[in-house]
Amino acid sequence: MPRYVIDERALRRNLEILKEVADRTGARILLAQKAFSCAATYPLCARYLAGTTASSLFEARHGRENFGGETHVFAPAFNPGEMDELLGFVDHIVFNSPRQVELFGEKARARRVSVGMRVNPEVSVAATPAYDPCRPSSRLGTKQEFFSCPDVVEGLHFHCLCEQGAEELSKVLAGFEERFGGFLPRMKWVNFGGGHHITRADYDVESLVALIADFRARHPHLQVYLEPGEAVALDAGTLESRVLEVQPKGADGIANAILDTSAACHMPDVLEMPYTPRVTGARTGAEGPFAYRFGGPTCLAGDEIGVYSFDHPLREGDEVVFEDMAIYSMVKNNTFNGVNLPDIVLRGEDGTERILRSFGYADFASRLG
Ligand SMILES: *Cc1c(COP(=O)(O)O)cnc(C)c1O
Repeated sequence: MPRYVIDERALRRNLEILKEVADRTGARILLAQKAFSCAATYPLCARYLAGTTASSLFEARHGRENFGGETHVFAPAFNPGEMDELLGFVDHIVFNSPRQVELFGEKARARRVSVGMRVNPEVSVAATPAYDPCRPSSRLGTKQEFFSCPDVVEGLHFHCLCEQGAEELSKVLAGFEERFGGFLPRMKWVNFGGGHHITRADYDVESLVALIADFRARHPHLQVYLEPGEAVALDAGTLESRVLEVQPKGADGIANAILDTSAACHMPDVLEMPYTPRVTGARTGAEGPFAYRFGGPTCLAGDEIGVYSFDHPLREGDEVVFEDMAIYSMVKNNTFNGVNLPDIVLRGEDGTERILRSFGYADFASRLG
């Protein structure tokens, strides 16, 4: 069976970087659970981060019950039938439009939940439209032309980045202040969203610290929040799998290798984003002496992970390790084709491994009615 292995040492390394940013800037940093929601690691994360942010009732509850600290939530539109329960779990609620504030703002205030609005600064910096909340037809965040700010609103939120650096943030921040800066004197907080790749080796942490310090110098009354997801668990986990069969080489000189893990089921972002994950000990592409096209055990023709080259031939039973699989993997996986889910394993700092969760037939059958 394949396994997701979360590496506590790598996680802590990321958390230390994030805490340093928080300590040096006064910003509060939240885990965006949409990227990584492993509750067994939350006690560790909670020593470094201020809380969590959520995209739904269930994520909000998960953050409140397992992480503690502050719990924030944003959704493009909230379900009225869930609002009472949701307000019991959160400290901040970020609405996407003036209409949503009109519907739920007073109710939130009555429950002492801080009300914010997500705005759209209209600064496109994300590399692909699927990950660009400022794309022309975006439903995410209110544009300046439609913006109004009821009294109940005490914070503004923007989220425009995806795997990006301080330079892109500075462009977005400039656009945000140009369009919405006039409302800042009335606010208590500003949330800079996620997509900050702070823990990536080449991220310019000094520029981020300077940017936040500069913002705070101009707006000393505002609490700044950041809510990265990826950066918290970047490179903090792998997906370990095995070769089930190696087929004969095709006309292109590449052999299909069928693995016991699936892009469609266990790493959907490979197909959705799309991207080719790194494999330990292999190069991406067909340039090496032994090239293989990795595919999953499902009957989806497009369930291909990528082409990789090795210095040695691969055989049945060999291990294949996909890197950077703590994020956007467990939170998105599924049992399409009845393929079982990988175990979730935590590797402690002393190297010992603990199986957090194994899955079976009941997990498949219970979701299908
Ligand atoms: C996705 C998302 C995040 C986290 O993004 P990362 O790219 O994982 O850092 C934070 N806030 C909001 C509103 C999001 O939609």
